[in-house]
Amino acid sequence: MTIPAGSRSVRMVLPAWHGLEGAGFEVRRPFPGRAVAHLDPFVLLDEMGPTDNAPGEAVGAPDHPHRGFETVTYLLDGELEHRDSWGNAGRLRPGDVQWMTAGAGVVHSELPAPRIVRDGGRMHGFQLWVNLPRSEKLTPPRYQDLRAVGIPAVRSGDGRAEVRIVAGEALGVHAGTRTHTPILYLHVSLAPGGRIEQPVPRGWNVLVYVFGGRARIGRDLRVVPDGDLAVLAKDGDALVLESDGGRAELLVLAGEPLGEPVLQYGPFVMSTEEEILQAIEDYRAGRMGEIAPALSPPPVGSRLSPAAA
Ligand code: FE
Repeated sequence: MTIPAGSRSVRMVLPAWHGLEGAGFEVRRPFPGRAVAHLDPFVLLDEMGPTDNAPGEAVGAPDHPHRGFETVTYLLDGELEHRDSWGNAGRLRPGDVQWMTAGAGVVHSELPAPRIVRDGGRMHGFQLWVNLPRSEKLTPPRYQDLRAVGIPAVRSGDGRAEVRIVAGEALGVHAGTRTHTPILYLHVSLAPGGRIEQPVPRGWNVLVYVFGGRARIGRDLRVVPDGDLAVLAKDGDALVLESDGGRAELLVLAGEPLGEPVLQYGPFVMSTEEEILQAIEDYRAGRMGEIAPALSPPPVGSRLSPAAA
């Protein structure tokens, strides 16, 4: 197979590290890490699970604030319940995406649905943090709930590659998702022999995270295994992705860099230390709202068994 002119090469490969988030759920996090802080405009990528939870075992992230960026949650397996300090609530099922602009600030909880906590079950998904331009960091919070059926899925001509388009455009199909700056977010499933060539604008940062199988990525068809993130060099305007013989699952993230200072402190992503201090103060003073106790779900985010709770 010929490699098209203008194909980007792989600049580096970052293995995800394993950690615990929220009330103690397992994540694989390719960045930020020791090798790179953020990959402008992306601040963080977490693969949550997959975990197979016994009854009473599933945990999530109880009440916590965000300001200055967007969280994009893509659920693959399980059921996730969301509530925030402005009275919004929702549930994500497999294939659903929630694109939340935290903007000026929200306090929210992201917890496995009570059914999963009670009966056990598999949880698997992604959370991506997308930075906001400095001028829009204090924009009012906004939600886009993308249901699985509304997310365009396209197959390559030979049927061996399937692309779900969360944001941007692939194989001639455009997703209607609104983003503050231009973003491409694709879930690519490759069957044996599957291949796609995806246009990527010059100057954008382009990342490919492998979360199942192995893929050949970029001009040099670099083999990237499960759990690794390929960061592409800015040396072209096309991205080649191929199966390495078996099936592979990939997340493709690309975006126009903001080129602004990025300061992350826990759940806040701002541009200066002063803005971080302001965020902490506003959160403590309740200016990001709070989840009213009467509206809070039962403490399913804790590790206590129902009997102990
Ligand atoms: Fe959160």
